[in-house]
Amino acid sequence: MAKLMRVVNRDQCIGCFSCMYACSRTWQQAITVEKAALRVKNYPGVEGAFSVRICYGCNNPDCIVVCPTQALTKRKGGGVVFDSSKCIHCRKCIDACVPGALQWDTEFEIPIICHHCGICASYCPNSVLALVEVE
Ligand code: SF4
Ligand code: SF4
Ligand code: SF4
Repeated sequence: MAKLMRVVNRDQCIGCFSCMYACSRTWQQAITVEKAALRVKNYPGVEGAFSVRICYGCNNPDCIVVCPTQALTKRKGGGVVFDSSKCIHCRKCIDACVPGALQWDTEFEIPIICHHCGICASYCPNSVLALVEVE
């Protein structure tokens, strides 16, 4: 059975950013939150409340539908695979992602793809994230 990332305990998020650092470090060899495939943000004006956005691994991903060059294709088990050689940097995929989960690499002008590997969850101190089995 396939496994996908899910936010399972959002109320317990303390905004430590360990998840984003782990993702950037693992997949982009970068010590920054900017290269992570997920985003944790403060709700403006709400102390101690955070939004946690991560690729949902949609069945029929809108990001794939709008991509004019087939740079994005379906990943077996959910989510997407990215071919950077086909990307024309149009950002249509970012605008199409309904959960607002898909992130943009401002250095290379390409989307940052979630691999549903679970490294973010393994660094979360409060079990906010989990790699869960899906049908
Ligand atoms: S990036 Fe967005 S639209 Fe694409 S599969 Fe993930 S959640 Fe769905
Ligand atoms: S930015 Fe790249 S991956 Fe995204 S829709 Fe445009 S061509 Fe496709
Ligand atoms: S590691 Fe967990 S607690 Fe820390 S910001 Fe990420 S989701 Fe929130």
